[in-house]
Amino acid sequence: MDYQRVFAQAIDRLHEEGRYRVFIDILRNKGTFPNARCFAGHNGPKPITVWCSNDYLAMGQHPKVIAAMEEALHDVGAGSGGTRNIGGNTHYHVDLEAELADLHGKEGALLFTSGYVSNEATLSTLARILPGCIIFSDALNHASMIAGIRSSGAEKRVFRHNDVAHLEELLAAEDPELPKLIAFESVYSMDGDVAPIAEICDLADKYNAITYLDEVHAVGMYGPRGGGISDREQVADRLTIIEGTLGKAFGVMGGYIAADRNIIDVIRSYAPGFIFTTSLSPVLVAGVLASVRHLKASCVERDGQQAAAALLKQLFADAGLPVMQSTTHIVPLMVGDPAKAKKISDILLAEYGVYVQPINYPTVPRGTERLRFTPGPSHTAEMMRDLTQALVEIWDRLEMRKAA
Ligand SMILES: *Cc1c(COP(=O)(O)O)cnc(C)c1O
Repeated sequence: MDYQRVFAQAIDRLHEEGRYRVFIDILRNKGTFPNARCFAGHNGPKPITVWCSNDYLAMGQHPKVIAAMEEALHDVGAGSGGTRNIGGNTHYHVDLEAELADLHGKEGALLFTSGYVSNEATLSTLARILPGCIIFSDALNHASMIAGIRSSGAEKRVFRHNDVAHLEELLAAEDPELPKLIAFESVYSMDGDVAPIAEICDLADKYNAITYLDEVHAVGMYGPRGGGISDREQVADRLTIIEGTLGKAFGVMGGYIAADRNIIDVIRSYAPGFIFTTSLSPVLVAGVLASVRHLKASCVERDGQQAAAALLKQLFADAGLPVMQSTTHIVPLMVGDPAKAKKISDILLAEYGVYVQPINYPTVPRGTERLRFTPGPSHTAEMMRDLTQALVEIWDRLEMRKAA
């Protein structure tokens, strides 16, 4: 076996398809985000504007979050020192779980080291606990849910994206006695569309299924207290489990689920991905606590984000740029070719100081490669006009623009 040759070929395939991933080397400027510094060239860091951050509400630089983290650091030190079971169950963790349970109107919540881990650990454990469980999974579910479903070993049925009729067809085809779990997202992060949550809950009632909703791209941003789309649509009580991240709109790091006491106890007691890992640093948890509490009470960030997204969509559409239909804060611009998406992104960074990462397969299906913009409350109208102008120039240069 020529190991080196196999590895080199695997990388070559990515280059040939134009989807070899290059990570940008940046530092965000606290206090003036979305401004950042990029370390690409040899002449020292270059100023750029970040357009693809999932720190959607700029909470990662919020003074309350920073102050809470500083205070925790100086009070209790850097790390937690253990798993939740052995020394690492700090008072910050206990407080945050209570805060998150309250956010979703559930009896309990459970923290994980990331949203990915929360999906993987919870789904794989749930389906193993329920004998004969069949999982019904939306076709566009995130890789972390797919990983959890796969490692559970449960039977899986994939329903067409947001297609309630197809979901019902699949549910009706199974033995009514078998346990069933419907796994889906509220806001789909690449197209920016929203699931018909209430209709899916109706089907869950009808076919005696439990539901698992990933609200990663909605928590902090939707609902009067930032509890997500299920908060906005007042259906949180109909969902069995709500999952979220602490690394996107909440601006720090970590993941969680919220559910009734028994389910939380089962996952806490059986999920290896929860049990056998050092708990989140109390410094991070303190920052999240400040962020969640702030966004429960303040709508300024949410309103600012929605206004920014609406304006950017309008500017793109007016300029004849192929902005995708999105009913949320996510603004995708369709390119449809991996090499072109990369090229546009490279030109934007090199010539305009604009950073937006090209989104390629397997994050999105082949042929739907795109640029995904996430304007937030600190992106100004002037930044958006400059961005639109830059895109129009590039689209013209590459002869991609259709008449407006
Ligand atoms: C980012 C993401 C996750 C993972 O969350 P992390 O906290 O980043 O690990 C889970 N689900 C969806 C839909 C995501 O986009």
